[in-house]
Amino acid sequence: MTVPDITRNLERIRQNIAQAARRSGRQPEGIRLVAVTKTVGNQQIKQALAAGVDLLGESRVQEMVDKYPEFPDARWHFIGHLQRNKVKFLVERVDLIHSLDRWSLAEELDRRARERESVFRVLVQVNVADDGDKHGFLPAEIPGVLRELAGLAGLRVEGLMCIAPFEKEPERIRPIFRQMKRLFDQCTGVPGVKMRFLSMGMSSDYAVAVEEGANLVRLGTAVFGPRNCSLREG
Ligand SMILES: *Cc1c(COP(=O)(O)O)cnc(C)c1O
Repeated sequence: MTVPDITRNLERIRQNIAQAARRSGRQPEGIRLVAVTKTVGNQQIKQALAAGVDLLGESRVQEMVDKYPEFPDARWHFIGHLQRNKVKFLVERVDLIHSLDRWSLAEELDRRARERESVFRVLVQVNVADDGDKHGFLPAEIPGVLRELAGLAGLRVEGLMCIAPFEKEPERIRPIFRQMKRLFDQCTGVPGVKMRFLSMGMSSDYAVAVEEGANLVRLGTAVFGPRNCSLREG
């Protein structure tokens, strides 16, 4: 893609987000965009940053580690399934981890953070459609999980994330996003956690997600165009 394409994509995305925010009675400024850079080259990432993007999302540790030194001013969000033996590479690099999806990962994050007297900011991933293929905690487990995570000094829980099942028709995902927002609201009272972010919505469904309460959307294709299919999805 050329420079104007990415710039134009971002303009359109910002308009869509603003309209969806207003439809749900919210301010557009409250909604943050994470530009998902998996398989995307440095040149295109530079273009996105020049067009005002400040949050970059990666779903593979190696890609994030490779790209990180090139973009010292960007903040990196990790959004993929994270193996415990890769956690060490994220210390002092990652701004927010969206995908805390199991207890053993929480323990490893906590351990690595405390080793460095640092803290990982995390969102807890919800397996919202109870999909056997997807990672995350089941909705019913979430309040209890948050209460326990609040006891880990190396973690700061700041909200919830979900990866909705793909649907050609984004309206079909609306009930799932609505359920996520209900769960999010229900968790605001959990002691020791500050529910700030509800991360949901990807290129095909972010408008619906924002209408239902998302304030962090993760967009790859909508920003950069279709990904190189020879690289495995992650
Ligand atoms: C790839 C990816 C995205 C972005 O997907 P698009 O459909 O290209 O917007 C968002 N979230 C996660 C977890 C991803 O892996």
